[in-house]
Amino acid sequence: MNTDGRVRHEADVVVVGGGPSGLAAAVALRKAGVERVEVLERESVAGGVPRHCDHPGYGMRDLHRVLTGPGYARHYADLAADAGAVVHTGATVTGWSPDGGLEVTSSKGLRTVHASAILLATGARERPRAARWVPGDRGQGVYTTGQLQQAVYFHNQPVGRRALIVGAEHVSFSAITTLRHAGVEVAGLVTELSRHQSYEAFRWGARLAFTVPVLTGVRVVEVYGKPAVTGVTLERVADGHRWNVPCDTVVFSGDWIPDHELARLRGVRIDSATRGPEIDATGLTSVDGVYAAGNLCHPVETADVAALTGRHVGHAVAARLRSRSDLVTGAGVPIEVDDSLCWVSPQRIRSTADLPARGKLILRPRIFARIPAVRVVQGVRVLWKGRLTRFIPTRPTLLTTSWLPRVDPNGPPVRIEHLP
Ligand SMILES: Cc1cc2nc3c(=O)[nH]c(=O)nc-3n(C[C@H](O)[C@H](O)[C@H](O)COP(=O)(O)OP(=O)(O)OC[C@H]3O[C@@H](n4cnc5c(N)ncnc54)[C@H](O)[C@@H]3O)c2cc1C
Repeated sequence: MNTDGRVRHEADVVVVGGGPSGLAAAVALRKAGVERVEVLERESVAGGVPRHCDHPGYGMRDLHRVLTGPGYARHYADLAADAGAVVHTGATVTGWSPDGGLEVTSSKGLRTVHASAILLATGARERPRAARWVPGDRGQGVYTTGQLQQAVYFHNQPVGRRALIVGAEHVSFSAITTLRHAGVEVAGLVTELSRHQSYEAFRWGARLAFTVPVLTGVRVVEVYGKPAVTGVTLERVADGHRWNVPCDTVVFSGDWIPDHELARLRGVRIDSATRGPEIDATGLTSVDGVYAAGNLCHPVETADVAALTGRHVGHAVAARLRSRSDLVTGAGVPIEVDDSLCWVSPQRIRSTADLPARGKLILRPRIFARIPAVRVVQGVRVLWKGRLTRFIPTRPTLLTTSWLPRVDPNGPPVRIEHLP
């Protein structure tokens, strides 16, 4: 028992968050021989976001098969349990003790958990309407896709009769499926960008199967109706033309922000672009012994990519514990991007021998471009030059790390540039 009345508990590695990345990390840690691996998950069931995504499309890159979200979540929860990780559900991490332990609240009471390494895998969430500064009435009927899916699939709640979806990325198209499952007509998807950002097949599917139009270059300027939403006002970005669309449901989709509160509380350096912890290729943050993985670091990727980064960081943590080497949190070399890119993950090179998950850096473009020419420079030295497949905002572009051995560990920042 601690002096503050909390029960003190010890583990080798504690993973915060029992979504795909946290569970995959726990499996990797156990398989690598780490004895006491514990996962803390605040929900009553482990599995993370896929639990309420009741459609297929999960597991291709990591499990090499296609599962539904709930099936995928169950699969990872089972894998973690079979591997010997202890998964505590209903256990919320609320902060840090002064000596670096995790403060945990659950129905069993208050605990402080200490470990040699702590892996944050708390995921990301869609920014709600309030955070997007959309004016108008505060009527009922406004959701994020995550809230919509929970209302429909978990609670079987009615969610209106006619909906408008704000956003046109992958998750926005998945909102169509959920709304149609709930018997809701979809008036359209709107995006301020000049094109939708998902697969072309999804747009055609939306048009042909559901007759849902995708309105590009259009933004929502008002939501009206009290006590329940009765419509939205849209504005064409090009000329300011405005019109009203009657609807009783508005879904704000995508536009992700990492659940970074715990990392911030610990004083972990936050990357100003991803707004998640700044990490190196092993997932190590700026604080000794604190690692991060999954959508907390790359908001957002598909679940299989989150699981693969979790697995990768799990292996890296196990190797570090095995070697008993002092944790390295030296400055290293930062990786920066130019204005055509929003962010890169990971953002720091501490060892040129450490490759990131899948051996690639994840880039998030700000612009649309076909086969963009890109170069990687360090000061005046060009480390790599070549073409990538494409740039689409909100979608990942992968960049080779074949240039890593040429990085000068004492040199200036490495910079990724798009060549017009
Ligand atoms: C609507 C929607 C549709 C999607 N469709 C697909 C799809 O078809 N295919 C696909 O591959 N991906 C899809 N995704 C993306 C996929 O769900 C995510 O990539 C994946 O869940 C990310 O995993 P994660 O472990 O990083 O985070 P999460 O799944 O968000 O898990 C994080 C976990 O951490 C827990 N947690 C957070 N804070 C605390 C705390 N303080 N204490 C304890 N626990 C905490 C949370 O409760 C949560 O369980 C979809 C996402 C959404 C929202």
